[in-house]
Amino acid sequence: MMQRAIQSVTVLGATGSIGISTLDVLARHPERYSIFALTADCKWQLLAVQCLQYHPRYAVINNEAAAKLLASELREHGCKTEVLLGVEALAQVAAHADTDVVMAAIVGAAGLLPTLAAVNAGKKVLLANKEALVMAGGLFTRAVTEHKATLLPIDSEHNAIFQCLPNHRADYLAQGLVSSGVRKILLTGSGGPFRTLPLADLKHVTPEQACAHPNWSMGKKISVDSATMLNKGLELIEACWLFNARPEQVQVVIHPQSVIHSMVEFVDGSVLAQLGNPDMRTPIAHALAWPERIESGVASLDIIATARLDFSAPDYERFPCLRLALQAAQRSATAPAILNAANEVAVAAFLNSNIRFDQIAQIIDEVLQRQDVVEPDSIAQVIATDQTARQLAHAVIEGL
Ligand code: NAD
Ligand code: MG
Repeated sequence: MMQRAIQSVTVLGATGSIGISTLDVLARHPERYSIFALTADCKWQLLAVQCLQYHPRYAVINNEAAAKLLASELREHGCKTEVLLGVEALAQVAAHADTDVVMAAIVGAAGLLPTLAAVNAGKKVLLANKEALVMAGGLFTRAVTEHKATLLPIDSEHNAIFQCLPNHRADYLAQGLVSSGVRKILLTGSGGPFRTLPLADLKHVTPEQACAHPNWSMGKKISVDSATMLNKGLELIEACWLFNARPEQVQVVIHPQSVIHSMVEFVDGSVLAQLGNPDMRTPIAHALAWPERIESGVASLDIIATARLDFSAPDYERFPCLRLALQAAQRSATAPAILNAANEVAVAAFLNSNIRFDQIAQIIDEVLQRQDVVEPDSIAQVIATDQTARQLAHAVIEGL
């Protein structure tokens, strides 16, 4: 058998849902992957356990007190992992000459700069952090081309679409999907935990109910985004950038079973779908090994037990966040960055029980109406837009 070089992997957001699933897949293939760096926001105990298990060269953490505790814990166990602190260290490990692959699994806008650092260093970047692409799509995708980075989608829908699209990615990226014979993308979503709840009850749902997704186990922020379906809106914007699609070429379809992860329709009428159990280790393993295939630990899909697959159109009265995201996709420029920032503030307020579930859409709507949309020409401008939208969102919440 051919000997292949071991790839050195950095996991940004190692302590999160995607980070943990990534480490699970990596641990199944020690002959293919070594771990270069692991990062976390503040959960130093879990990061310590991961360092003791995987012995990365670096561990990065955001909080000074946590960094000290982590360093002393590792020293006590004779672990040689070097502990680094702060945002710049995230970018440093992501762009380091000795790392080949970067899993971008930080949640929210905080992932933008470290993910871009990996892109600018021409790494193989596995993108879970959809918010980075939503905020800065044009600048981000240009940086991918300019620095010859390889960008592979981890979001299950986008990974499915990527698997269904023709192999000659350069063609549709240069000339659009139509030139590759693609008619449209069908972006599926389960509809979340409140798909059938009486509309009047949406006012009273709790953070616990919103985080209890019927099919997927995920971090809290994306779980709330799935309950409002803003997640599907972010994913539509993400799909436009990843596959050079226009918003009209992406149809959102409700599919409650989450067995089909998305589909692609071609001009001859063929529709290709990717199916599997709802377990993020499948897209993670796919992107890690692409274009090869490796074991992920995911159980075989029992298609007989699945029995039926249902589909319906999204209900915009129930999911106003989805409509707001579609409008932001059509306006493009800084509209998606404003939408994303307002949503991050609103979701955090909902999780802290400061606002009601139905007020998330109201806050995003007001911020989008108040803030000017312009074509951003730098990442600094995108970050300034994000900051302004956050301030506006806090002001709207104060005024509720
Ligand atoms: P999570 O909340 O479980 O984990 C987030 C990770 O980011 C943690 O390791 C945390 O320490 C780190 N982090 C948070 N804030 C940070 C900051 N300010 N600076 C540095 N690090 C920070 O989230 P998740 O569910 O794993 O999602 C991660 C990303 O993947 C999100 O963008 C989400 O939309 C995307 N995604 C997740 C899933 C899923 O199944 N969980 C599916 C598709 C896409
Ligand atoms: Mg998804």
